[in-house]
Amino acid sequence: MTTESPTEQSSQADLPLVAHWIDGTQRPGRSGRTAPVYDPALGVVTKTVSLADRAEVDEAVASAAKAFPAWRDMSITKRQQIMFRFRELLNERKGDLAEILTSEHGKVLSDALGEITRGLEVVELATGFPHLIKGEFSQQVSTGVDVYSTKSPLGVVGIISPFNFPAMVPMWFFPIALAVGNTVVLKPSEKDPSSAMFLADLLREAGLPDGVFTVLHGDKEAVDGLLEHPDVKSISFVGSTPIAQYIYETAARHGKRVQALGGAKNHMLVLPDADLDLVADSAINAGFGSAGERCMAISVVVAVEPVADELIDKIRSRMAGLTIGDGRRSCDMGPLVTRQHRDKVASYIDVALEDGADVVVDGRGIEVDGDASGFWLGPTLIDRVPLTSRVYTEEIFGPVLSVVRVASYEEGVALINAGAFGNGTAIFTNDGGAARRFQNEIEVGMIGINVPIPVPVAYYSFGGFKDSIFGSSKAYGLQGFDFFTREKAITSRWLDPSHGGINLGFPQN
Ligand code: NAD
Repeated sequence: MTTESPTEQSSQADLPLVAHWIDGTQRPGRSGRTAPVYDPALGVVTKTVSLADRAEVDEAVASAAKAFPAWRDMSITKRQQIMFRFRELLNERKGDLAEILTSEHGKVLSDALGEITRGLEVVELATGFPHLIKGEFSQQVSTGVDVYSTKSPLGVVGIISPFNFPAMVPMWFFPIALAVGNTVVLKPSEKDPSSAMFLADLLREAGLPDGVFTVLHGDKEAVDGLLEHPDVKSISFVGSTPIAQYIYETAARHGKRVQALGGAKNHMLVLPDADLDLVADSAINAGFGSAGERCMAISVVVAVEPVADELIDKIRSRMAGLTIGDGRRSCDMGPLVTRQHRDKVASYIDVALEDGADVVVDGRGIEVDGDASGFWLGPTLIDRVPLTSRVYTEEIFGPVLSVVRVASYEEGVALINAGAFGNGTAIFTNDGGAARRFQNEIEVGMIGINVPIPVPVAYYSFGGFKDSIFGSSKAYGLQGFDFFTREKAITSRWLDPSHGGINLGFPQN
C-alpha cells in the first residue's frame, strides 16, 4: 500500500499505530499491512494505520452480528438514553476531536468544528428516533382482523467514508443506523482514520454495548470484504464517482441495500442583477473553504454577462487577503490532504494554461504560515475555461475556482444541466421569478438561492442526481430512517367465540 521508500517504511515502524475497534476495544491489525497517516501541514508521516484483510473483516462482522440481537431488543428508552449521552459527550469533547481531525486532514480548526457541528445535528435528529420508527395500525380490516406495521433494523450495516469529512460523513449514517437498532461496521478513509476511533470511544463511554459499533480500517481489500460478506445487510458509501459506482454495483450484486454518494462539480449561476459583493464573498467561501475539498464546494462560477469582469475583480481582490497555513494557527485555509493530491490538483493549472484559459491567480508558490514541507496550494482563479478542458469537465477537489461566461440565464441553465454531476448548485439573483424558475428547471439535487453551499439540515436528506449518487436513497433525514429499517406488515386475528368457521376465499367483510 505504501508509496514510501524502504527507509521511510522502516522508520514508520516506530510510529503510533491506529488500530481497529472491535468488541469495544482497540485491536491492532494482524494482516501485516499498514498505510501512512500524514500531518498535511507538516508534510510528514505521524502515524500508521492497520489495513484489514479478509480474516479481520470476518472477525469484525462476526462481532457486530453477535451484538445485534441484544441491541435490537434493548428497549427504545435505553437506546435513546445512550444516544443522548453520546450527544452530550460529543458536544463536550468536540474541541479535542477537531484537533485530531485538523492534524490528519489539514482543514483549519474552525472548519473542523463546523464539520462536527453538522454531524451533531444528525445525532440530535437520531435521538428523536422513537417518533420516526412508529408503525401504522388499522383496526378491524376484516371482521376480527387487525393489520399493523413495524419498522425493524436490518442487522449489520456497513459504512464506507471518504477523507474529506472524517467525522461528519460517518455521522450522516451511524447515529440513525444505531438508534433504530442496527449494529455498524465503519470503514473510514485510511488517510485520516483517528476521528472514527475517537467517536468509537465516546460511544463506549456513552454506554453502547461492545460490538454494536466497530471501526475496521483498510483499503480495497477490507471494502471488498464488506461488500461481499453475507452478514452485512446494507452499504452506505460516500466517495469519488468511479468508486461509488463500483460499490453500488458490487454490493447490489451481493444482495445488499446500497446508497452510494459520488463526486461533484458544482456551479454557481450569477445573474446580472445579483449583489456582486455577496457573490464574491460566497464564491470565496464556497470555493476555497476546506481547501476546496468539499463535495459541495463551488468549483465553477457561471457569470451571465456583462458581470464577469467586475465579479472577477472583486473575487481577486478578496483572494489577496486570504491567509494560508497550518490549520492550528489562525489561518483561512489549510493544506491539501496529501502531497499526491496536492500535485494532482496543481497539475490542473498547467492543463488550464495548455487549453488557453486565463489563469488570473495561480496558487502555486504562495507564502504560507506553516512548515515548508506541508502540502500547500494557494487559492487559484481561472477565467475563460473552455468547456472541453479537463479543468471544466473533471472534479478537481482542491482550491481551484473556474469562471465560465455565458450570454443568458438559459445558456447557464443548459450548461449546468449538461454536466455529468448533479450534486449541488446555486443561483445568485435578486429576481424571485428567476430563482423560482431555476429551482424548477435545474437538474441538481441540492439547490441554493443566494446560498452557496446548500447542505440540507439534518431533517431533510442529503444527496444529488446523476453521477453524484447511485441508488435511490439519500443520506440522513427521513430517507435515512427508511434506509436503515425494513417494514413488516402484520395481519392478526385473535379468535373470539363467533369466528365463523372455514372459508377458502379472501375475507370480504
Ligand atoms: P475515494 O473514493 O478515494 O475513497 C472513499 C472510500 O473508498 C475510502 O474509504 C477508501 O478507502 C475507499 N476506496 C478507495 N479506493 C477504493 C477501491 N478501489 N475499492 C474500494 N474502496 C475504495 O474518495 P476520497 O478521495 O476519500 O474522497 C473524496 C471524494 O468523495 C470526492 O470525489 C468527493 O466529491 C466525494 N464526496 C462526495 C460526497 C457526497 O455527498 N456526494 C461527500 C463527501 C465526499
